[in-house]
Amino acid sequence: MRMKVPFVDLAAQHASLKSEIDEAVGCVMTKCDFILGEETAKFEEEFAEYLGVKKCVGVASGTDALELALRATGVGAGDEVILPANSFIATALAVARAGGRPVLADVLPDTYSISPEDVERRITSRTKAMIPVHLYGQPADMDAIMAIARRHGLIVIEDACQAHGAVWKGSKCGSIGAASAFSFYPSKNLGACGDGGVVATSDESVAEQIRLLRNYGQRVKYEHVIKGGNSRLDTLQAAVLRVKLAYLDKWNRARSVHAEHYTRRLGHLSKVVTPVVRYGGEFSHVFHLYVIRAERRDELLNFLLSAGIGCGIHYPRPIHMQPAFLDLGYREGDFPVAEQAAREILSLPMFPEMSDEQIEAVCESIERFYKNEGQS
Ligand SMILES: *Cc1c(COP(=O)(O)O)cnc(C)c1O
Repeated sequence: MRMKVPFVDLAAQHASLKSEIDEAVGCVMTKCDFILGEETAKFEEEFAEYLGVKKCVGVASGTDALELALRATGVGAGDEVILPANSFIATALAVARAGGRPVLADVLPDTYSISPEDVERRITSRTKAMIPVHLYGQPADMDAIMAIARRHGLIVIEDACQAHGAVWKGSKCGSIGAASAFSFYPSKNLGACGDGGVVATSDESVAEQIRLLRNYGQRVKYEHVIKGGNSRLDTLQAAVLRVKLAYLDKWNRARSVHAEHYTRRLGHLSKVVTPVVRYGGEFSHVFHLYVIRAERRDELLNFLLSAGIGCGIHYPRPIHMQPAFLDLGYREGDFPVAEQAAREILSLPMFPEMSDEQIEAVCESIERFYKNEGQS
């Protein structure tokens, strides 16, 4: 019997924290302060301190965090916002929902993060902001991004939805731009038991604007100063997140150890390219995903899935090839690096509780796939 390995194992994480989470949830159930309760305020403070920013404002999801961060920093109708062609669709959706126009840039072939050179080529008189995405848990090149922002007077909103706890040259991801967005979708490095998100910023006026936008535009009940909406981080989710935040660094260290194990084991395979870590040092990549490039990717994917090994592709279709964004007018071939990545990348199982045996089982299956190919 070969070992089955799930892509992520949320049950394993929950089992290790069950009593703490039960107690935290129980306290909220007793108090019943479900909307913008005490736990939400405490989590906002603790996460801000963890990131090294002045304020965090809890919202309903990472997608909302991006949209509200754009709106709160003044991005709106007619503004162009540059973002990478290879990201989760939410990065582009947030721009469109804020009334702006997503402008895509190609990515770097080694780290898959936005190419600063391509960003510069796509700046126009209408460009207002950029959204670097810390994809897979590795910081984008924030020195280059911030230098471009300064030169052209652009706003930087970090999409840190895959990078809780990641560090760029001494600063936490999410503490570098004007504002940043985090998602607490359950499988993220810091995940709730449902949807949730946060906007982080050190600009008090941006934080205040987010507080209005998430809560009907009111500072005082029934006094609506702007046209806000309803996008709040549940008190119950905040209580869960407070428990889990204490483990985030430990989990990120475990992810990094697993990544090193994979890279050591797969390094000798000529048909596989293992992830590039741009800088060494703790938390310089927090491996939300462990993404390889593989020859005959689709066949390998099917081989692994039928062997009971969970894998995924992040993402199979770049944003400009999505039906929802055909109106942007891009065509196949416009972002060659992102398009090639979409054909070759494969995300292997990755979660803090993984055992060495599970990693060995994944690597052995990959070896078996290419060995069989060599014989045929
Ligand atoms: C998860 C994610 C989002 C969206 O977060 P939700 O909480 O699911 O809305 C945005 N951008 C990136 C890069 C993500 O991985």
